[in-house]
Order: sequence, then C-alpha cells, then structure tokens
Amino acid sequence: MKIILLGAPGSGKGTLAKKISRDFNIPQISTGDLFRAIVREDNPFANKVKEIMKSGGLVPDEITVEMVKNRISQDDCKKGFILDGFPRTVPQAEALEKISQIDSVILVELSHDTIVERLSSRRTCSNCGEIYSTDDNNTGFCFKCNSPLIQRDDDKPETIRHRLEVYEENTAPLINFYSDRLFKVSSAGTPEETYEPVKAFLRDLEAGVE
Ligand SMILES: [Zn+2]
Repeated sequence: MKIILLGAPGSGKGTLAKKISRDFNIPQISTGDLFRAIVREDNPFANKVKEIMKSGGLVPDEITVEMVKNRISQDDCKKGFILDGFPRTVPQAEALEKISQIDSVILVELSHDTIVERLSSRRTCSNCGEIYSTDDNNTGFCFKCNSPLIQRDDDKPETIRHRLEVYEENTAPLINFYSDRLFKVSSAGTPEETYEPVKAFLRDLEAGVE
C-alpha cells in the first residue's frame, strides 16, 4: 500500500502518519529524515548531496527523487510506505510516477485560522528550550527552570500565515495531479477522530490491493 500524505504545517499530518505506520506496518518516509541520514553516509552520491547542501544551493529534484527511489526499494517497503513531505511539486510527482505506482493520496484539511490558532499558542523556554502551549502554561515562565517563555518567530501568526500561503501555492497543483486517487479528511477534531475515517478507508484499500 503506497500512500502520500498531504497537509499544511500544523494540520496534524505527522501524528496521522505515525498512526498509519503503526497500524498498517509500513514505514513513514520523510525527505527531511532522508537528508539528515545522508549526511552521515560516505559514498559518491551522498558526497554530491552534501556538497550541494553545504553550498546552500537548492537540491535539484532529480537528487531528491533518487533518494526517495533508493529508500523505497529497501526491504521494509515491500508492503508499502507513507510518503510525508514528498512530492512537493508536480515535477516531483511526475518523476515519482515513473518509479512507483501510488495507490492513494490522503489530504489532511484544516482551516488556516485554526492552524494559526494552534501553532501560535506555542511558547518556548528561553533557557532550556522546553516547549509549552499557552493552554497548559500561561504563567510566562518555564516549569523546569523558571526562565521566561518566548514565542519563536516561527510560531508568530504572520510567519505561520506566510508558510501556509507557500504551502497552498505548491499543493494546489498536486491536488489536481492526484485528483483520481485523493482521499480528503478534516483534522478539526481530535487526532483519533481524524484517524478513524482514514483507517477505515485504508482497510478497504488494503483489501483491494492485496
Ligand atoms: Zn526552561
């Protein structure tokens, strides 16, 4: 069962991916993890990637696709996989089509207002880095070291809105690209409520694929 997860930052996509991975016994593959892993490798391909990353340049699509290709050809992907954070663009999706047949694309939907509300409640300890939500700590101070809590720039509403706009711009064409195998789910409820319909859908899909 080969699945792609699409969803904005803060939509709860990562939590959903973990539940699917656990219950369906397929690995969650994120390009972020692949890049972090390749830095520790020493071979011509890895060294080429490291060179590009070190120069601060944009990693070309064919390199990212090659990394994904290598990863999904490993033994633990025989039953399938969940791609999280890839593809990001239509050219990447087209390249992926050539190396693997994706069964379904799950789109996690949540309004931007709700995402901004959820993410902008995050506070970080200025000393030890512990993360809180204003829901469970609005004292303004860290429970562990008593240092003042700050709101990181990344968690400020205007920064979040900008990231969401970039996401929409890139994702809208992808939604169109995968319109023949798209499954939409709202993540406005609890993580369990979000997962229920996805689980039922994937059980059916699994029965059909095998
Ligand atoms: Zn602290």
